[in-house]
Amino acid sequence: MNPTPPRPAAPPRRVVVLGSTGSVGVQTLQVIEHLRDRGGETLEVVGLAAGRNADELQSQAQRFGRPVTALASPGPDAPSQAFDFTGPDAAQELIESVEADLVVSAIVGIAGLSATAAALRLGRDVALANKETLVAAGELVMPLLTAHGGSLRPVDSEHAAIAACLAGRPVEDVKRVVLTASGGPFREWPADQIRNATPEQALEHPNWDMGPKITIDSATMMNKALEVIEAHHLFGLPAERIAVVVHPQSVVHGFVELRDHGVLAQLGPPDMRGPIQAALTHPCTRPGSAAPLDWATLGRLDFEPPDEDRFPALALARRVITSSGGGGGATLNAANEAAVAAFLERRIPFGRIVELAAGALDALPPRPLTGLDDVYDADRAARAWVEQQI
Ligand code: NDP
Repeated sequence: MNPTPPRPAAPPRRVVVLGSTGSVGVQTLQVIEHLRDRGGETLEVVGLAAGRNADELQSQAQRFGRPVTALASPGPDAPSQAFDFTGPDAAQELIESVEADLVVSAIVGIAGLSATAAALRLGRDVALANKETLVAAGELVMPLLTAHGGSLRPVDSEHAAIAACLAGRPVEDVKRVVLTASGGPFREWPADQIRNATPEQALEHPNWDMGPKITIDSATMMNKALEVIEAHHLFGLPAERIAVVVHPQSVVHGFVELRDHGVLAQLGPPDMRGPIQAALTHPCTRPGSAAPLDWATLGRLDFEPPDEDRFPALALARRVITSSGGGGGATLNAANEAAVAAFLERRIPFGRIVELAAGALDALPPRPLTGLDDVYDADRAARAWVEQQI
């Protein structure tokens, strides 16, 4: 063994939370309070951004010493003068006006792209939950890291696990990475039943308590498809070196298979406060806020291959990664967002979600991305195409 390595630098102090009123945002603020009360770590919340939940944003602002606030859609009853920035660009304006060490990117969907890209253009470190940013615009976003000196810390539990296992290993040492998938609520359902599942059934996730969009994505397994594309950009790996295995207990979050056939894995309770805290305190480790694994009662860990006949979304990820020209990720992401919204509004059956996402890829050939405007063009075209089909 080498001598004890030097203590890593202290974690960041000033934090902005984008999407603070959502599932990841609320848990991020809980972890920040936990670190202050139990971990001896005081992170200062300097900015909070949300979509439409004015009451929750105001109450969070009071709780955290009145940081700068941004609300995208204040609504008729919300006092817009209560927030520092309002309107569709509010989160980006907040990022550009506040000095911060770390930005937690937890807005849902493509709405998170502009503020996340702005943070990276300012060289900020970003704890990334908003996978849609990399799915839609990874080709444009990843170069911002080298150009401006910021970093991306994955918050998605699978990518956080893989990053922890990689621990700076050169990519040539890695045979492939493996993302685990819970399989969602329909893992054991027959195809015809899955096709007609209701929003209530699809929103009933067996292991994770998350926002509605990602919960539906988990039920279609589109979430895993988006995560494969996210892993492709984050770790610089081709599609054939990113595998998915269904693991119903959601205890092993990710594997790294090395070229010497050794396998590294990261395990932890299925609780997002774990990866959120790891991203907040990186490169240090602090006492955890989530309950630890109980080995005595854990029982078995099961693994099975994904059934791509019943869950055809995964093939779309490989298609986007291997298609030339870029832009396919923006199309897939937007078509999926539009289809999920239509399903939750009961305008289409569950089975149509992935069909529409695949149809958009067929109908709208990918175009090279030269800037974020190209991403938004592809996004608009895919949403319009999906609406035409409904
Ligand atoms: P939620 O739906 O719970 O929360 C979404 C957040 O985004 C809310 O704070 C919402 O504000 C905010 N928001 C929406 N539109 C805008 C906008 N235009 N400007 C500013 N804020 C906006 O989502 P989750 O927390 O579940 O997911 C967030 C991201 O994290 C997604 O990309 C998801 O894939 C990813 N993720 C989530 C996990 C989870 O466990 N939930 C796990 C891994 C990844 P408001 O509520 O005020 O409208």
